[in-house]
Amino acid sequence: MRLFIATLSTETNTFCTMPTGMSGFEEYFLRHGDASKSQPNLMTEALHVWRRNAEALGWSITESLAAIAEPAGPTIASCYKALRDEILGDLEKAGGADIVLLQLHGAMISQQVEDCEGDIVACVRNLCPDAVIGISLDLHCHLTQKMMDACDLIICFKEYPHDDASDRAEELFDLAHRTAVGQIKPTMAMFDCNMINVYLTKTGAMRKFVDGMSTYEKKPGILSISLAHGFPWADVKDVGARMLAVTDDNANLAAQTAETLGKEFFDLRHDVTDQFVSMEMALDIAESATRGPVVLADMGDNSGGGAPGDATFLLRATLDRGLTNVVTGIFWDPVVVRICEDAGEGATLNLRIGGKTGLASGIPVDISGTVMKIADGLGQHLGLGLEPLGKMVWIRCENSLDIVVNDLRTQVYHPEALEQLGIDLSEKSIVCVKSMFHFFTPFQKIAAQIVQVATPGGTSQDFATLRYSKRDNCFWPKNSGNIFAQTSAQSLMSD
Ligand SMILES: [Zn+2]
Repeated sequence: MRLFIATLSTETNTFCTMPTGMSGFEEYFLRHGDASKSQPNLMTEALHVWRRNAEALGWSITESLAAIAEPAGPTIASCYKALRDEILGDLEKAGGADIVLLQLHGAMISQQVEDCEGDIVACVRNLCPDAVIGISLDLHCHLTQKMMDACDLIICFKEYPHDDASDRAEELFDLAHRTAVGQIKPTMAMFDCNMINVYLTKTGAMRKFVDGMSTYEKKPGILSISLAHGFPWADVKDVGARMLAVTDDNANLAAQTAETLGKEFFDLRHDVTDQFVSMEMALDIAESATRGPVVLADMGDNSGGGAPGDATFLLRATLDRGLTNVVTGIFWDPVVVRICEDAGEGATLNLRIGGKTGLASGIPVDISGTVMKIADGLGQHLGLGLEPLGKMVWIRCENSLDIVVNDLRTQVYHPEALEQLGIDLSEKSIVCVKSMFHFFTPFQKIAAQIVQVATPGGTSQDFATLRYSKRDNCFWPKNSGNIFAQTSAQSLMSD
């Protein structure tokens, strides 16, 4: 059996003004055929799984590109073409494959292509009409008909925070293997849930729903169930949650299952989403807390969702309140990193922090601080993977305000991102992290309390007011009613 594997991943925030260019891939992760031989990260875990399994079976393996960039605006057209064509070129050079497995994101948009993943798999299908093509997607994807048409198998992560990339890669490998030897014939259907939001899977109704999906997979004829949550910060026609069912050669069962579970998910819409706390209220909570640290998540500036990572709204509000003993970060500010590096540890400087990328960044904050630590080459854990942190600087200001900046856009996943610099989080009153959900579980170990704050910025949570120009307004929460009941009433009236 000849296996071909690759990964290409970035998540495009079309409301972000900063494009994604080749430098974004070069600084985050870019390997040309040997990613499975280095430390795994979220989007390369699958390559490790697929190589290991294929080697155990004695298959021949062609590993192509692994390219990952931190989310930002649409990818530069020539950059996307170069990355896509490297994968296609390697596939051609290999003389095709029996099985093609790709770890893709599912929400990558270039300046010219709205559905990059659909484009890639359509090209792969052209090159290999008879191959089994399977893709694993981040659940924050736009599931499109083009992907469905070109692929035999699509599986999305089930968990958010994402800690199941390897499990999904194992499933995809198994199903692709069984397809290639003629044991099964995957048949897929999807259903548009008409919902735009974000959904944490670890607790409550969402946990039950995800567990229910896994139980459903054990039913006769069902091969796989995925919920594509969708990626809300993208103005594309396929934005929104979609339920995906894969059956063994049963199109009706696939369609019925996707619709049944999709409508079940819609019915849970108020239970599977959260209302987040305003900045003022969050600071009230932090100020009145009797025990620290209170961890405040700066949700509007999550670079993992394409926000700049240098927004100052929360920092400004913290300073205006006169709060003390605060640590905040990680600000993406290569200019400040450069100045601090030149000055060296121990230097005291006037610095202009953040607010540099665009309107979503707010206004810069001028501070005076001492460079406490400069570190390079550190990483932070996200599940099994280790994500890079770039060059980091810890700056100490008056009132025990600690500001952490770096030169590589990344959200905060883990307390170690700050602690490795020497900051003792247990002694801080307030810890502000630029993150949305991924930080939650690791920070529970050090936090007296965690507050997810609805800060303004590039990943604002106000989905009812985001401007979507390419899909209708028939989605929750824009339409607050029961959309499916409305739709069936309308179709009855038109009958
Ligand atoms: Zn995701």
